[in-house]
Formats: sequence, structure tokens, C-alpha cells
Amino acid sequence: MKKNKHTLSYLLTPDYMFATFDEVTPEFLESLGIRALLIDIDNTLAPYEQAEPDERIISWFADLQAHGIKAALISNNHPPRVELFNKDLGLPAYPDSGKPKSRSLIAAMAEMGSTPENTAGLGDQLLTDTLAVHRLDMLSIIVPPIKDKTTPFFKFKRWLERPYIRKYKKSHEESEK
Ligand SMILES: [Mg+2]
Repeated sequence: MKKNKHTLSYLLTPDYMFATFDEVTPEFLESLGIRALLIDIDNTLAPYEQAEPDERIISWFADLQAHGIKAALISNNHPPRVELFNKDLGLPAYPDSGKPKSRSLIAAMAEMGSTPENTAGLGDQLLTDTLAVHRLDMLSIIVPPIKDKTTPFFKFKRWLERPYIRKYKKSHEESEK
């Protein structure tokens, strides 16, 4: 593990941002050498109140599978939510994952037979999703939350994320010049 990379700025700044989960295409992942994806559920694939995957989610997973890209669900939500969501998808699934802890990410990679070098994380929160994958030196892909909670705690978390979103945007504007 490359300790010198583990500044707060590295840990919390995503590597890629997309508008929606299905803008993350198999072709894009393949261009980065990514063969497996660790995916958050709530506000990344579906809002909290959507219990089961819709057609868009199902066809995106089918597209990943057709390209041989493995996928696992890594959620901080409880087993009943994750199990119902995963009922027809049948993916490796880790509820109560405790992100930003990395233990369930490591277990999911072992189950999929992937490594940090060929695995990326997809989520909507820098303080859990990005932090968990960057602790393992993996790529972090972020989408904006589909439908954010409006509680003061969630607003505070989004406020904490703002400098890192700005940093991402600034570095990507520069790399496009
Ligand atoms: Mg989420």
C-alpha cells in the first residue's frame, strides 16, 4: 500500500464523475483495465424508496455481464433492503458494509476473483464510497445522489464534500486543455 498517496485530498477526491450510473459503460471500464465493479445501491442505482431494480438497472447489469465485467453490491443499508434489491440480480452482495471500512470490499473482491488493480468502486458519497475504495488504492467513480435526503446531517455531509468535488472538476478541466 502506497502510504504517501493517502492524504485527505487523495482519499476524498473521486477519479471520475458521471451524471448517472449507466453512463459508466463497459467500454469505459475496459479502457481503464477494470474487470470488476463494487457498487453502492442507495442514491447511486436507485433512491432509498425504490425497493427493486428497474429495467434501466437490469439492462445495465446485463451489459456489464455481456462484457465479462463482474459486479458486487456494497451497501451500508440493512440486509432486508439489500436482499430484496438483489433478489433477481443475484450478485455478490454485502449489506451493513460499514463503508468507509474496507473489509466488505476486500471480501467482495475475493468472491469475484478480482484485485484492487482491476476493480473500481461506484457510489454517490465521497465520505463513504470514495474513502473506502481509495484506502485500497482503487479507482473511485462517483455519480451525484439520485434523490438526496434533506436532513441537516445529510446537508452537512454534502457541504463537507464540496471542496473535493471542486478539486475533481478543476483537475479535469485542466486535463482537457
Ligand atoms: Mg449511497
